[in-house]
Amino acid sequence: MTDTRIDVRSPADASIVGSVASLSATEVAAAVTGIRTEQPGWETLGIRGRREWLERYRDWLLDHDDEVTGLLQAETSKPLQEARLELAMSLDLINYYCKNAEAFLADEHPRGHSVITKSKRLTITRHPYPVVGVITPWNVPLLIALADSAPALLAGAAVVVKPSELTPLATQRVIDGWQEIGAPGVFVCTPGAGATGAAVVEEADFIQFTGSTRTGIRIGRRAAERLIPSSLELGGKDAMIVLADADLERASNAAVWGGMFNSGQACVSVERVYVEASVHDEFVRRVTQKAWTVRVGTNDGASKADIGPLISSTQLAIVTTQVQDAVSKGATVVTGGERAQPQGGAFFQPTVLTGVDHTMQVMQEETFGPTLPIMKVANATEAIRLANDSPYGLSASVWTRNTERGREVARRLEAGAVNVNDVLSNLFLFPAPHAGWKKSGTGERLGGAAGIRKYCREQAIIESRITPHDEPLWFPYTPGKHRLIWRLLRFMIARDANRKLRKFGR
Ligand code: ADP
Repeated sequence: MTDTRIDVRSPADASIVGSVASLSATEVAAAVTGIRTEQPGWETLGIRGRREWLERYRDWLLDHDDEVTGLLQAETSKPLQEARLELAMSLDLINYYCKNAEAFLADEHPRGHSVITKSKRLTITRHPYPVVGVITPWNVPLLIALADSAPALLAGAAVVVKPSELTPLATQRVIDGWQEIGAPGVFVCTPGAGATGAAVVEEADFIQFTGSTRTGIRIGRRAAERLIPSSLELGGKDAMIVLADADLERASNAAVWGGMFNSGQACVSVERVYVEASVHDEFVRRVTQKAWTVRVGTNDGASKADIGPLISSTQLAIVTTQVQDAVSKGATVVTGGERAQPQGGAFFQPTVLTGVDHTMQVMQEETFGPTLPIMKVANATEAIRLANDSPYGLSASVWTRNTERGREVARRLEAGAVNVNDVLSNLFLFPAPHAGWKKSGTGERLGGAAGIRKYCREQAIIESRITPHDEPLWFPYTPGKHRLIWRLLRFMIARDANRKLRKFGR
């Protein structure tokens, strides 16, 4: 085995909270060979057999909830409430796919579309990609690892997970749990940094990636060269549009939670806000008041902090630079704006900015910090134009008491999911596709049947109900047979009597 290890540090105080091996490409290849060998047996178990294992696994996760969320907290310093929410959502998702996988993966028999094909019986069947590679980021590491792996396992694939080098502990522990329940050896963790992830891309048959657009492009390019599919969930710059008739109390509470949940380190967090002029000042007043009460620190359930630190000093530098860039171009810091003291870790103050515009990084680039830049707009049309003026298109929200208008605005937004009078709720709704537009990604996660079918190759099996010795389309091509077939086809395809019956020339 490798003698290279990665130390995992707490973002709250930089203390070492654990370490993992960093796997070489050769070790990744060996791990994948191992699960690839086991995969046919796993597939043969059938959906019911696999579901039983997933249900036992859910129970193991429930029985180890404190240990798992403890590790997750140690490596992310997120509040206990959010660590538990990650686990709860993962378990809910396992239940959802356990309940529905059989129906989602069942054979289908679409009918032939024309008289000519009526005599054929079609079966669409689904076979898993043998090995699915799941590469995860550091912001919600446990949820993403489990939410991407569970449907793949249920589909019959073997799964290799490469967790972020910043947050591998909880993921590695839960994959150990799969072994502890004695389940077939089709689920493995290969910790390491970018090079280990690249090795997974070389070995797997399907890549499910969540992370930066920059890395997603590299992975997508390599996957294309290998002719394997990839599903990429990348960055976001989610816009919130507050119309003049919105419930400002709910909208301002949502802006603060949606923008600062997980210290703003969520791909679907509120990253920028557009507010109609007549309610702008009142909205800013309420948001500021609420942001002021957001408590920064660590939270083990007993202490009372709402947001923890950013994941690393690199992330702290990005957020600081973006706020400074906005200020240098004329933005006003209404509250926050700086590193939070005295904790000493990568903490940043809850920050509200006004007077922002699209020349500023904070309105254009993903921030991933507890920041809410708020921009005054003349009307909904301007808000929509600005919301769409972004390379990203993950999700968005619209706020209005007129829900019909909310839906109309939603349809005009270039985003994979739009919440009306809500934030983040698309993530809790497993039948909803989570699919980024533009530079936010390709492919999707969740989305009901699509969320599990994507891990399968479709196969069409066509049977002839009638089997004469010869078929009209087969050799030999004689003029008489040709004329007859052409007449029949014309009759079938044309939609008016003249063309249906036009005299056949040659
Ligand atoms: P960030 O820069 O925010 O950490 P990344 O997109 O670089 O986000 O990382 C997301 C995941 O992708 C991590 O698990 C990381 O180790 C992995 N990764 C980074 N570079 C590569 C690569 N070239 N190929 C495969 N995985 C990679």
